[in-house]
Amino acid sequence: MARPKGSKNEKHVEHVELPRCPNCDSTDALVLNTNVQEFAGVTGDGKEFNRIVRRRTQCKHCNRVWILRTLELVPEPPTDGPFVPDELDDDGDERAAPAV
Ligand SMILES: [Zn+2]
Repeated sequence: MARPKGSKNEKHVEHVELPRCPNCDSTDALVLNTNVQEFAGVTGDGKEFNRIVRRRTQCKHCNRVWILRTLELVPEPPTDGPFVPDELDDDGDERAAPAV
């Protein structure tokens, strides 16, 4: 009986890159502000995400400012996503003589 996997990821999966300065390669950076965009997709690695987080980051060494983009998967109630019901499994109990 082939059954498609309908496993839901209930834990918060977060892909956080190390803030690394593109100028001096330092990881000692300061987050200036955070912008969250609701956007669902799949990364090149095949990981699902439903949120794009952009952090304006400033290097503490050379003061270079850049945008650090991370893709995050946060569990949300299925509001406008496709709802896939579980297969009903209670019809296998056939009775030969139904009582009348
Ligand atoms: Zn720097």
